[in-house]
Amino acid sequence: MEVVVLGAGVIGLSTAYYLHAAGHQVSVIERHTQTAMETSYANGGQLSYSYVSPLAGPGVLEKIPGWLCSSHAPMQFRPACDLDQWRWCLAFVRACTRQQNAQSTQQLLQLSFLSRSLMHQLVRDEPALRFDYVRSGKLVLHRDAAAYRAALELLALQKTLGCEQQALDVDACLKLEPALKGIAAQLAGGIFTASEETGDCYRFCLGLEHLLRRRGVEFQCGTQVDALRDCGTGLVEISCGARTLRPQQIVIALGCASTALLKPLGIRLPVYPLRGYSLTLATTPASIAPAVSITDSARKVVYARLGNNLRVAGMADLGTASAEHNQTRLMSLQREAQRVFPDAGDYSAAAHWTGLRPATPQGKPILGPTRYRNLWLNVGQGALGFTLATGSARLLSDWISGKPGAIDRTLFCLPH
Ligand SMILES: Cc1cc2nc3c(=O)[nH]c(=O)nc-3n(C[C@H](O)[C@H](O)[C@H](O)COP(=O)(O)OP(=O)(O)OC[C@H]3O[C@@H](n4cnc5c(N)ncnc54)[C@H](O)[C@@H]3O)c2cc1C
Repeated sequence: MEVVVLGAGVIGLSTAYYLHAAGHQVSVIERHTQTAMETSYANGGQLSYSYVSPLAGPGVLEKIPGWLCSSHAPMQFRPACDLDQWRWCLAFVRACTRQQNAQSTQQLLQLSFLSRSLMHQLVRDEPALRFDYVRSGKLVLHRDAAAYRAALELLALQKTLGCEQQALDVDACLKLEPALKGIAAQLAGGIFTASEETGDCYRFCLGLEHLLRRRGVEFQCGTQVDALRDCGTGLVEISCGARTLRPQQIVIALGCASTALLKPLGIRLPVYPLRGYSLTLATTPASIAPAVSITDSARKVVYARLGNNLRVAGMADLGTASAEHNQTRLMSLQREAQRVFPDAGDYSAAAHWTGLRPATPQGKPILGPTRYRNLWLNVGQGALGFTLATGSARLLSDWISGKPGAIDRTLFCLPH
């Protein structure tokens, strides 16, 4: 079957990979002249299969007043005159229950465990795919006793859902990751998950593109999709400049841009941008930088070693759809990283980046068919797009190919 994938971020490229492997004639359309130039470019680099619990959860609502006021809080909310934002916020508030959070976590774990086994298979099957991939393990740090106790409770729950994790006291955290010694006095303990991994999402995307081009997948880079039009026959056509394309099947993998393009078709996607930031710092043999992937849960900052670089990522700003740099937020992130790992490298030479997470209120991606016979969705992976890319792409590819899904794929459908 002829399938056109719209968007060449990690989701579009992974989808193209599995569709091609299933025997379809695949092409990819991307507005930039190169692939993965938007949210998949410099993300946190964590393949965080066991930490998929959505942001919406009990206890989140009382933190919102703080997010409204401070420019240094890990999360920031700027109300805007935007109906979509208010709709998104309302759905987010509704999702902040213990029951909804537990249900979404359980569903997301099914997708993330599928993604993990597919990533392992991909790395085995495609040795040419090089992206600083390491089975580094992840240590989630807790800075106060109450947060650590809550993490121990979660650990017990996660165990029942198939996660293998270990509670570590401060000495054990330092033994595992000596680079933490500067903040030892501020720690209450940590949770270590040996099965977590890291990799460079951008290099992963370039590697997939390279493989796919060699195998005959056509890339139309530098091609803006201007509109999607209802043909009136239950099918959709694509308008790109002067051209109109009518492929047998279309996959939407346009990240945050998906919402606006689908609106004229009457498809209301609950996907809204959550802006985040990263720094990439070159390390040297003298650097004191973590080898294990770290999440500082109180500060909501993640650290991943990607080859000779340290990637630092964090912050979530709701209320802006622009990926413009916000120097105040970037410097806040940089100061935080310098407090934790002061000798990791030359912070004044760090590369700064801003990206928009395509977030849904419940923290679940949207994948599956639409009411149009040739239109499919693979969007809304939010803060977990790299982690969930393989599983989301394979589920959708199997669906389009008429094969059974490895897990219940209706869990991630858009109701229509
Ligand atoms: C600060 C930060 C840290 C993160 N850390 C992690 C992490 O550690 N682990 C993890 O799993 N995830 C992480 N994420 C999330 C992850 O990066 C995203 O979920 C993922 O990159 C989304 O991929 P995507 O393909 O959906 O979107 P994108 O990468 O944005 O791809 C969409 C593509 O569509 C193209 N496009 C859009 N509109 C059009 C159009 N009209 N015509 C043609 N092309 C178009 C864009 O140019 C783009 O290339 C992080 C995100 C941020 C911001």
